[in-house]
Amino acid sequence: MKPAPFAYLRPTTLDEALAALAEDQGAKVLAGGQSLVPLLSMRLAAPSTLVDINALPDLGHVTADADGVRIGALARHAEVLASAEAADVQPLLAMALSHVAHPTIRNRGTTVGSLVHADAAAEMPMVLRLLEGSVDVASVRGRRTVPAAELFAGPLESTLAHDEIAVGASFPALAPGAGVAFQEIARRHGDYALVGVAAHVQLGTGADGDTVTRARLGFVSVSDVPTVVDVTDALGAPAEKALAELDPADDIHATAIYRAHLVKVLVPKVLAAATDHARDRRA
Ligand code: FAD
Repeated sequence: MKPAPFAYLRPTTLDEALAALAEDQGAKVLAGGQSLVPLLSMRLAAPSTLVDINALPDLGHVTADADGVRIGALARHAEVLASAEAADVQPLLAMALSHVAHPTIRNRGTTVGSLVHADAAAEMPMVLRLLEGSVDVASVRGRRTVPAAELFAGPLESTLAHDEIAVGASFPALAPGAGVAFQEIARRHGDYALVGVAAHVQLGTGADGDTVTRARLGFVSVSDVPTVVDVTDALGAPAEKALAELDPADDIHATAIYRAHLVKVLVPKVLAAATDHARDRRA
């Protein structure tokens, strides 16, 4: 199919882009186009205007320091994945990004676009939730920072207003004594996950140094929105605790029962891998 007709704007300043969005309720931001263009072609989205942000300056950065990793709205998945500094400061980014789609899609698709697209089958919204990161947002009304816990409203729906542009995202650094791991099951590497699970564990200090004092899990493709479950108090049966809070569904790719089974298989593996990661970092 072909998209419904739309106007196309390619502003060269952020103010121009924000004004264009504010003027037209039906306008939509175009970033890498890897999710939006298929939706246009299938006529599942029919914006009156596309505001292409690819010519905006100063949004292509991937920077990392002791606080964390900051990613501009025009940084492509491939650029984030290639950043050794980002992988060092927050290793879960590279662990998860290597599972995001295929190289050609990662070369165009933006990490911030993936966050705003808010797909519970996508890796990076879950990673932002698990790490308790945030997104910086601009509109003609001003700027605000949206914590990950307040970003995801429903299936493919973020809490951003129609006139807002996400200008960047921040992922906190991995703390001393913490470890992370990610695994997913997909039909082919690069396909959307049937189920993906990330773990974020914290080891204690002093006499508690080898004990997990906090353990949280992030889930892909087993709920309507990116979901995080704290299993610190359920380390004897973490998958069971998680499944009580998740809502795996049947679709053409897998049954709910199979997805629940994959949760039970993956949870112990990622918890063990994240604990090993924390111990290795400390050694
Ligand atoms: P676009 O497609 O340009 O936009 C997506 C949505 O976000 C639109 O509604 C747009 O208006 C909005 N938007 C984008 N950027 C901004 C912004 N800065 N401010 C406000 N709104 C914005 N993703 C995965 O996570 N895992 C996968 O396994 C995976 N597999 C894929 C396989 C295929 C075949 C394809 C085509 C895509 C796949 N993707 C996958 C999606 C890919 O990661 C996209 O890059 C990503 O979802 C959206 O980023 P984008 O820059 O392309 O956004």
